[in-house]
Amino acid sequence: MISRDLHELREALGDCHRCPLGDTRTTLVFGVGDSCARVMLVGEAPGRNEDLEGEPFVGAAGRLLDELLSSAGLSRGDIYIANVLKCRPPKNRDPKRDEIECCAPFLREQIRLIDPAVVVTLGNYATRSLLDTKAGITTLHGRPVDIDGRTVLPVFHPAATIYDRTKRDDLFADFAMLGTLLSGGGA
Ligand code: SF4
Repeated sequence: MISRDLHELREALGDCHRCPLGDTRTTLVFGVGDSCARVMLVGEAPGRNEDLEGEPFVGAAGRLLDELLSSAGLSRGDIYIANVLKCRPPKNRDPKRDEIECCAPFLREQIRLIDPAVVVTLGNYATRSLLDTKAGITTLHGRPVDIDGRTVLPVFHPAATIYDRTKRDDLFADFAMLGTLLSGGGA
């Protein structure tokens, strides 16, 4: 699938029912942000609030994400955010492999079109999907990897750190690294 721009890609996605999540979602959450962003964040899938509002990272995890971005010298206007899955799995269950495979071409095309210098993968599913690894986020977080001319930085998913202070501290440390990558010419 090759699109000229994000608008054409969104048109191609349409009222997608390529996997069963198309039948259970309320709103397809395509992604938001600067189409020329230097930093792209990739999460797992829409949650309940995102499914209702049509935007990634609203609610408590979204507020934490805003804090994290600010700590790295960024705001939502500077970045693009999308998810591995564009539709909410029922009751926020884990994504299934066939759903990820079905939706992956759209994420790959978003990354190609936006062409960010850094892709921050939030949590296990985004990290495993982009790094093609079975290793977990506890091992991989905070270790930048260069792939296809860009840097992939795995971090914990903000929602997983809301009640876990240790992971939260790690998450802020990893966003501090993002700030360093961006200011130091590492990306
Ligand atoms: S999750 Fe992706 S592939 Fe499945 S219906 Fe939604 S947009 Fe289509």
